[in-house]
Amino acid sequence: MQNHQPLVDLRSDTVTQPTAAMRQAMLAAPLGDDVFGDDPTVNALQARIASLLGFEAALFVPTGTQSNLCALLAHCQRGDEYLVGQQAHCYRWEGGGGAVFGSIQPQPLAHQPDGTLALADLEAAVKPDDAHFARTRLLALENTLGGKLLPFDYVQSATDWAQSKGLSRHLDGARLFNAAVAQAALTGATAQAEGKRIAQCFDSVSVCFSKGLGAPVGSALCGSAEFIQRAHRIRKMAGGGMRQSGMLAAAALYALDHHLDRLADDHAQAQRLAAGLAGVPGLQVEAPHTNIVFVDLVGDARDRSAALLAHLAAHGVRATGLYRLRFVTHLNVDAAGVDHAVAAIRGFFNA
Ligand SMILES: *Cc1c(COP(=O)(O)O)cnc(C)c1O
Repeated sequence: MQNHQPLVDLRSDTVTQPTAAMRQAMLAAPLGDDVFGDDPTVNALQARIASLLGFEAALFVPTGTQSNLCALLAHCQRGDEYLVGQQAHCYRWEGGGGAVFGSIQPQPLAHQPDGTLALADLEAAVKPDDAHFARTRLLALENTLGGKLLPFDYVQSATDWAQSKGLSRHLDGARLFNAAVAQAALTGATAQAEGKRIAQCFDSVSVCFSKGLGAPVGSALCGSAEFIQRAHRIRKMAGGGMRQSGMLAAAALYALDHHLDRLADDHAQAQRLAAGLAGVPGLQVEAPHTNIVFVDLVGDARDRSAALLAHLAAHGVRATGLYRLRFVTHLNVDAAGVDHAVAAIRGFFNA
């Protein structure tokens, strides 16, 4: 019966529901008015994430979009520009906020197949100090990018290069902890250590608690005390000053304590999904680094993409995309859910 089927929501890792224990932590949190600076739980979260990533200070914000906006406006003045990838969230997926609210010009660059921006392309994009040009001011990278872990050697050399050019460096680390967990699997160090190692290549880092970490709401921007002071004023202008937001910060603190290392499970489920779809004619499965699986429909299968999505919906499986499907694993997806999704897709192709 259709209504007894599991719902396997693979649209995004933002769809997670707070666990019972997380809800308890939210209810129990001591609260204050954060606009007066007196919410003890928000203050504890800001201190915790700053220290975890090796920064002086942090600012709790409602969304990753606002976090990136605060970062762009705190690093850049009107008429400055930032170097950024074509697929980067803070260029492509945030309504052009840096340009709209900050008069900051993006200089988007094409990604290499591994998600990096070639150093030669970056070098060529830096404008000379000349009245014709916007002032190149900032390099913004994203890790993971579309679920891809940027090679750490690259992160180091790109950020060293930026520093040598006098550019500030911002990391959109919405999924930094997925990157950290994947990198830890390569190096044998802890995810905490790898998260800090990546973060320390940058002047500012934004992280989301509302993605794989499983909190309902919230992101943090980390940087120097002076940078965070500037970002704080911008958060106010953007309407991001919240009040008893300790209830939300408590969920984020709970997530840092209990949901960080378990991201490895999400990565394993993504591997399971990719392996389950291997060899299905018409599907080209990209090997996932972390919790996002991209599946391209090729050949005749492209003509059947709408029918495939309808078939998946009828079987309680949700994904995004059309010719390039995206499946994201998270806290609320287990092996049985993955197997159900695989069976539904294989069923459609009789494979
Ligand atoms: C989701 C996401 C954001 C924005 O987060 P919101 O909380 O949805 O505004 C920013 N950057 C990346 C890479 C993301 O995946």
